[in-house]
Amino acid sequence: MSRAVLPVCLLLLVALGRAGAGSEPDQDQGAEEHPHPPGKGLGHTPWSYEDRDRWSEDYKDCDGTMQSPININMANTIFSPHLRAIQLSGYSLPASERLKLRNNGHTVALELPQSLAITGGYAQQYRAVQLHLHWGATTGPGSEHTINGHRFAAEIHVVHYNTKYDSFKEAMVHPDGLAVLGAFLEMGPRDNPYYQEILEHMHQIQREGEEVWVPGFNIAGLLPANLKYYYQYNGSLTTPPCYQTVKWTVFNQSMLISRDQMLKLITSLRNDDGKPLQNNYRHMQGLHGRRVLASFQTTFFSPKQLPAGSDSSAAPEEHSSSSFQAGDVLAVLFGVLFAVTALAFLLYIYKQRSQNARLDSPTKSKVIYTAATTENTA
Ligand SMILES: [Zn+2]
Repeated sequence: MSRAVLPVCLLLLVALGRAGAGSEPDQDQGAEEHPHPPGKGLGHTPWSYEDRDRWSEDYKDCDGTMQSPININMANTIFSPHLRAIQLSGYSLPASERLKLRNNGHTVALELPQSLAITGGYAQQYRAVQLHLHWGATTGPGSEHTINGHRFAAEIHVVHYNTKYDSFKEAMVHPDGLAVLGAFLEMGPRDNPYYQEILEHMHQIQREGEEVWVPGFNIAGLLPANLKYYYQYNGSLTTPPCYQTVKWTVFNQSMLISRDQMLKLITSLRNDDGKPLQNNYRHMQGLHGRRVLASFQTTFFSPKQLPAGSDSSAAPEEHSSSSFQAGDVLAVLFGVLFAVTALAFLLYIYKQRSQNARLDSPTKSKVIYTAATTENTA
């Protein structure tokens, strides 16, 4: 995930040189892609999703208290009216601009030029580095974040770094260094033309370390049209070195890709063992008192979301209770609507009857009904 391979490689080189085994750049955001493809070696400790629960043995931060991904329990989110729509600039790239698409052994990563930026919705400005995806297998979904315990088919991460730093590598070690935009992918009825720009090249990068140059396109098309509704929280890279320097934005609206496209995403790539690259998502991490903000009202009874540090993961109960609340309100609304409609109908019937009584219309209506029935049958 680091934006491009170059940055990642630089990071890796630097990291490798500096610590023998410890730090490497990648992560989900910038480095998720962890670049240690062909040139692995040196002191760098390779990691894999198979030993994702032991990452902290080599990468201490992976054991921290501000890790990602998390489950977002809507009932525990805090509505913040100050969170304005995310604004992107420079995301529409001409086809003449070539972008490097790479299989880094952990994901497919598309390097992004620094002209892409987040210019609104965050307090600071961020430049894009790269984007990548997380997915499951044909047997199950593979998003990293979950909503009310629900895991989506896949998830896209667009990694950015704070422009107050000179590079992604420098930014990634500072608490305010990184911003990642995340969105869920689900299956829909038709091909998504933006995702096709990436997926149609997957067969060219089946093996780890392979890369291909693809024409530029409107990168914003990979993200939801509605950038107003999202969750935000402080977290980490979702791959080693798990630096806790990411301000996460997870959009509420999902992206749709076709079933064929989903299959292509899930089955095209292989890792360095030659096995299918699947289920490349990290398991849910604890909140440890962190708050998750929402840019919109997530329940009818928002005040209940405000209790202090209680976001932990009492999730299942909480969210089911929240949906009950919403259900109750809906039930009352529908009940009232039904009562009003019934009353209006009764009034209408009553009126008709009194009119008919006056006009002696019983015969008339009989005739009308009979005629209509006959015609229809014919
Ligand atoms: Zn990621």
